[in-house]
Amino acid sequence: MKQRFTLIGSGLAGGLLAAYLGRRGYDVDLYERRADPREGNIVGGRSINLAVSTRGIHALEQLGIADEALRHAIPMRGRMIHDKSGDLHFAQYDVDPNKHINSIGRASLNTAVIEAAQRYPNVRVHFNHRCTDVDLDSATAKLADSFVAAGMPATPKPGEGGLPTDAGNRIIEAHADAVIGVDGAFSAVRQSMQMQISGFEYDESYLAHGYKELTIPPAADGSWRMEKNALHIWPRKSFMMIALPNPDGSFTCTLFWEFEGPRSFATTKTDEDVRRFFNEEFPDAMPLMPTLLDDFRENPTGSLVTIRCAPWYYKDKVALVGDAAHAVVPFYGQGMNAAFEDCVVLDECLAEFPNNRERAFAEYFSRRKENADALADLALKNFIEMRDKTASKTFRTKKKLDHFLESVLPGTYLPLYTMVTFTRIPYAEAARRGRRQDRIVYASLVIAMVSILVLSIWVVRSLAR
Ligand SMILES: Cc1cc2nc3c(=O)[nH]c(=O)nc-3n(C[C@H](O)[C@H](O)[C@H](O)COP(=O)(O)OP(=O)(O)OC[C@H]3O[C@@H](n4cnc5c(N)ncnc54)[C@H](O)[C@@H]3O)c2cc1C
Repeated sequence: MKQRFTLIGSGLAGGLLAAYLGRRGYDVDLYERRADPREGNIVGGRSINLAVSTRGIHALEQLGIADEALRHAIPMRGRMIHDKSGDLHFAQYDVDPNKHINSIGRASLNTAVIEAAQRYPNVRVHFNHRCTDVDLDSATAKLADSFVAAGMPATPKPGEGGLPTDAGNRIIEAHADAVIGVDGAFSAVRQSMQMQISGFEYDESYLAHGYKELTIPPAADGSWRMEKNALHIWPRKSFMMIALPNPDGSFTCTLFWEFEGPRSFATTKTDEDVRRFFNEEFPDAMPLMPTLLDDFRENPTGSLVTIRCAPWYYKDKVALVGDAAHAVVPFYGQGMNAAFEDCVVLDECLAEFPNNRERAFAEYFSRRKENADALADLALKNFIEMRDKTASKTFRTKKKLDHFLESVLPGTYLPLYTMVTFTRIPYAEAARRGRRQDRIVYASLVIAMVSILVLSIWVVRSLAR
């Protein structure tokens, strides 16, 4: 009999995973608490655009939807650093100018993966269904059906029962062979695992920084008011702002700043506070942001969390994918790319063990866990690099040295950023290799400097004789 999957969450990874499972011929019901993204369900102020790179593109290519999904993406070839005096420094991401990351709208990518899933008649997508709980042993998800709450009749789908609640809403039950939680960092499926699996490991840690999205609108003629093909960074040591281009000529800026402290979100209350802070810190951006005060007041301040948990599965009944299993801070631009890579690996494992789903889930977990942990560490480290080190000459020199070594030692020396962003080398291996390379480079520099010093002393002494 065909295996039946309930997927919770049709965000970026949920839509993609539904398409993968649909292609494999499984029966899939995908439940999403929000409305259809084609009706504009993307919550304003929450990463309107993202950087998609090699791992994410590979996952899209495997389904044959990369061209369609990336149709409106904007290549970003390097970092454009804005210093306080307004001077710009551009640093290419890789020695190969063709290697770039892509700025893409969350809504358009979400739509592309959901539409890819809906092309399989064995995949059904149900919007406005919020998962409240999962019974792990019976792989049954309980879902609050908000159409009913809004007074609209909901027809139970095959496999769903209806349980009226005293609030007048209806909780429906979705029964399947397995439930997959693709429901993001605050996953309801993971919460059910925490409650029902004894010894379930869980750790969450929040940064002291939050983020707020702001806008640089297009110029009057619809063009971009800064270099279009770059990721812009205003590094200011303990905080920073970044901006990614959008197809309509605008940029989405994200300010990463301390929640608390003498200068922080907490102390910046009035329009005058905002104006003064931006004039001091981002004087070149300020004139490009006519809606700054409204954006700052109205857009939410998001938090940045790293979540690690184990295991990511329960028997052959439940598994976690994407942020539900491993939310990371966004500073390597890899959270969604890693979530897409999860889908590829889970699909491979299900293909390798078609008659043993528990083994497939266990393999998927063992292949991904170490890599997700490595990415979490890399992402945290990259925050310091982006907000502080990108401004320094030493950083720019190290990047030039990286590019030089990459070009003279092709295939042998690969900068860490290149391995993470432009290859599919597992994250943990990339991190190990990066550390090894750094040790060799620093040791070689020390040996070279000592040799130069010894040689200079010898030359001076020889001349003095
Ligand atoms: C500011 C910021 C910038 C980022 N930039 C990048 C970037 O440049 N590149 C990159 O690769 N990653 C980036 N990320 C990370 C990326 O957004 C996430 O890793 C990615 O969205 C994870 O996809 P997901 O499908 O696992 O989770 P989500 O995209 O969060 O999707 C989860 C879905 O589940 C639904 N859901 C939640 N709870 C329930 C429930 N109880 N019942 C039913 N449905 C539910 C949600 O509505 C949502 O649709 C960024 C993140 C942030 C915060």
